[in-house]
Amino acid sequence: MKSVKNDSIHQASEDGLDPADWEETRRLAHQMVDDAIDYYRNIKDQPAWEEMPESTKSKFSFDVPRNGSSLEEIYEDFKTDILPYPMKTAHPRFWGWYMGNGSFTGALADFLTSVINSNAGGGNQVAGVLETQVINWMKEIMDYPSHASGILLSGGSMANFVGLAMARHSKAGFDVRKQGLVNGETNMTVYASSEVHSCNQKSIELLGLGSNQLRLIPVQKDFTMNTSRLVQAITEDRKEGFKPICVIASAGTVNTGAIDDLEEIAEICESENMWFHVDGAIGAVAVLSKTGRKLLRGIEKSDSVAMDLHKWLHVPFEAGCTLVKNSKIHHDTFSLVPEYLAKNQRGLASGTNWYSEYGLQLSRRMRALKIWMSIRENGSIKFGDLIERNIHQAKYLASLVNKEHSLELMAPVVLDIVCFRFVHVALSPEQHHDLNREILARLHESGVAVPSYTTLHGIYCLRVAIANYRSTYADFDDLVRQVVAIGNNCVSR
Ligand SMILES: *Cc1c(COP(=O)(O)O)cnc(C)c1O
Repeated sequence: MKSVKNDSIHQASEDGLDPADWEETRRLAHQMVDDAIDYYRNIKDQPAWEEMPESTKSKFSFDVPRNGSSLEEIYEDFKTDILPYPMKTAHPRFWGWYMGNGSFTGALADFLTSVINSNAGGGNQVAGVLETQVINWMKEIMDYPSHASGILLSGGSMANFVGLAMARHSKAGFDVRKQGLVNGETNMTVYASSEVHSCNQKSIELLGLGSNQLRLIPVQKDFTMNTSRLVQAITEDRKEGFKPICVIASAGTVNTGAIDDLEEIAEICESENMWFHVDGAIGAVAVLSKTGRKLLRGIEKSDSVAMDLHKWLHVPFEAGCTLVKNSKIHHDTFSLVPEYLAKNQRGLASGTNWYSEYGLQLSRRMRALKIWMSIRENGSIKFGDLIERNIHQAKYLASLVNKEHSLELMAPVVLDIVCFRFVHVALSPEQHHDLNREILARLHESGVAVPSYTTLHGIYCLRVAIANYRSTYADFDDLVRQVVAIGNNCVSR
């Protein structure tokens, strides 16, 4: 009796997380890949959104399972309760907020990344080598010099945070890492247009600069920053004892896709000795397209640029990137190497590409593989063509809107974002607001399409962001038809 008990303890202690039956798991894993292929192949016939029923939501309330279940059973639950109800970014008529489609190759790469499960924080291993090559590609794409540095991050929010942290570090005029803002100065100011993405304000707040010190410069008719107002604000702030350290230019604003005058802001930063950061989460990668390249002139003059690769490059979440002109400032802003992370001359703990010294994270997912595989498979020309097509589709949609007397275009279309609304002479401003909200809700609820919404000059409008390689021109014909039909239907009742 005693020996049996000992045996079972022995056995339990050698039991790990590997499947009990590898062949059974192989079959199931192949099934998952088959199902994933079908998901992508049939996505256009699916509703663009499906609300999760309460009965399904309520299934997600069971306690911690103390004992396991079979993977087969869990996968069945995935298929019935999870798979139908995501934010369906892969859908050809998903145009909400601003996202990419993901890709099947990206999904496979994500799987392989987890199989290897390499920690991309450091070490003499492939993750750093791969990340360096991907960063070099990004530098080449953005016309950044070869001595520049960069890092892969979760997305645009972190990419802007890294840029602004370097601005603070290099322009504070004292050792902000050591002294902090309590014993140092707290009068540093940062400038951006009133259209700047909210994640920049979050960064300013988390960096201790305070959102009062984020100066929101008014925009012009085309929603780009009014640069004479920028210069005026900097001058006034200096007079009042503030210390202007950074301008954040938007290369593609989230509302309308407007691109600030990058050449001019570069000059202003140069003459004012300020850090020039570009939030290029939407627009930066458009340098790959002919139209984008012209619009983005001057982006290469920035001190840092935030890019979002899970947007217009369609890398599956999460993938962002910051490029930095001065690699020493990048390193000095983030590097902290305690004894237990000190590099060795030989072995796994040697090597030079320790990305943990260039950002906040120590343990890091090997994000480079999915980007590396996707760019190799398609080539940068293809991505440029897809971006160009989306820009053209946006202009096409704008032309449809302009042709339709019951629709009104609300902002100029420069990149791939189109803002418009349904209008009718008999309606008050409030009724217009309510009606357009109703149209949006019905588009979502019917599963026809997922645009989003915004408010421009105080007016609510529908907003279609076309970072989507599955959208066809017919999808936009259909959208306009549906919006007009829903609008007319509501007005006549
Ligand atoms: C999406 C976006 C961000 C934030 O990026 P995340 O990847 O969502 O963190 C920042 N700026 C702009 C202009 C964006 O469109």
